[in-house]
Amino acid sequence: IRSARVMKKAVGVLDPYLAALDDGQGNNAGTVLMATVKGDVHDIGKNIVSVVMGCNNYRIIDLGVMVPMDKIIATALEEKVDVVGLSGLITPSLTEMEQVADQMQRAGLKVPLLIGGATTSRLHTAVKIAPFYEPGVYYVKDASQAVSLLSVLMNPEKGPALVQSTRTEYAELRAKREADQERRPLVSLEEARKQRRQLDFKSQPPTAPRQPGLQVLDDIDLSELRKFIDWTPFFQTWRLPGTYPTIFDNPEAGPEAKRLYDDANTMLDDLITGKKLQARAVLGVFPAASDADDLVFYKDDARTGELARVPFLRQQRLSKSGRPNQSLVDFVAPADSGIHDWAGAFACTTGLGAAALADEFKAAGDDYRAILVKAVADRLAEACAEWLHLKVRRQVWGYAPDESGTIDLIKEQYQGIRPAPGYPACPDHFAKKALFALLGVENNTGMSLTESCAMEPAASVSGWYFSHPEARYFGIGRLGGDQVIDYARRCGISEEEAARWLAAYID
Ligand code: SAH
Repeated sequence: IRSARVMKKAVGVLDPYLAALDDGQGNNAGTVLMATVKGDVHDIGKNIVSVVMGCNNYRIIDLGVMVPMDKIIATALEEKVDVVGLSGLITPSLTEMEQVADQMQRAGLKVPLLIGGATTSRLHTAVKIAPFYEPGVYYVKDASQAVSLLSVLMNPEKGPALVQSTRTEYAELRAKREADQERRPLVSLEEARKQRRQLDFKSQPPTAPRQPGLQVLDDIDLSELRKFIDWTPFFQTWRLPGTYPTIFDNPEAGPEAKRLYDDANTMLDDLITGKKLQARAVLGVFPAASDADDLVFYKDDARTGELARVPFLRQQRLSKSGRPNQSLVDFVAPADSGIHDWAGAFACTTGLGAAALADEFKAAGDDYRAILVKAVADRLAEACAEWLHLKVRRQVWGYAPDESGTIDLIKEQYQGIRPAPGYPACPDHFAKKALFALLGVENNTGMSLTESCAMEPAASVSGWYFSHPEARYFGIGRLGGDQVIDYARRCGISEEEAARWLAAYID
């Protein structure tokens, strides 16, 4: 990626001479269309792949983020591309990719379809996408894989063998998955509710918040947030293996990691002193109770009027050892227990200004910094969530006022959790609509939701606050049809719509 900048500049100098030599046949290795699918805004991985493929002599047509399928297909046909690459971060994008594959087939496209992005996987590609698109679908983990895959696929001698071996491999994955499913039955939602996690709220009574209600934080100090950055995921973005700070001692990745880290910090200096990014947040801790699988927020501690009622999901796996079927609502005292409990939510962004900066870098031919600024903004957003959580535990809610300053924040060694909609314990992105309404997130921060409930700007985080000492993250796992119907009713949406939001978790 770093060399791409040098190469681009060099090519820029040579271009006029090369144009004079151009025979109109095109000298590239092939044309690749890249797009982040409709409803999704994340493009760091896609941009890295694009730059690396560009350096390997592919012509890249990058349609950007939130690209409707009609545009992808029309461009693929018009530009006679050799490959289509789709990217996405959130689970609704998986369904969108299935539909794009289906429409590509109907449009008569014959080119390979590459799939990548955080929630995509070889298994999902094999099970859910490949059956829709006969010419060939390929899961690519990262940029280096994309390049080596394409070099084989585009090779007239070696290509057909890879097409065939991938087909066989994906068919085997589908068969294996079917066999797995038969071995793992689910319990009914009713049964799962009976097996809920029953916590003791009496001997450890909930703490009333010191500052209940909504709080808006405008113009948060980025230099404060910087201290809370977890650098390990930053290196993962660039596919550098290791943990901060020992990654610097790694003989292979170390020197490159150090350069990246230094570049990121130089950029942070610049962003902070130049006030080029804005950080904003809103949070609230409210009287709350669990009611079956709903989390009820009340207007005040009289608990007569409801502020919001948020449906949560519950595990339905059958446990022989009697492990409970958990739902996040189990961490809040039930409405009929008579115990007054509280719960909260937050949303924060550090991405206001990031996309414009990235565009500026890109226009100046600096793809590396265009990617770097987004990666740094993402880190600041997670740092902001960590910083807010600390403030909530020690001051706003104040259930852990004496929390030691030496706890490891990266390991989340503190009481309480901040599960994020779209993550395993509450995997439905749709729940962000309830969260955004509860906190007035759009008006209070300038963040917004796309049709797939991705947050804009991309460098944003939102989640729920639970304070119970036993509160832990877990995974919801697979869902039964009965829960989908029940959830649809509780969300006030059709069963079809609920099934779309939950598609990644239904058999
Ligand atoms: N230090 C990390 C923090 C983010 S990852 C970083 O900078 O990237 C951890 C966060 O992901 C948690 O705080 C929580 O918000 C979310 N999370 C992790 N596991 C989860 C689960 N099973 N369910 C819901 N949210 C989860």
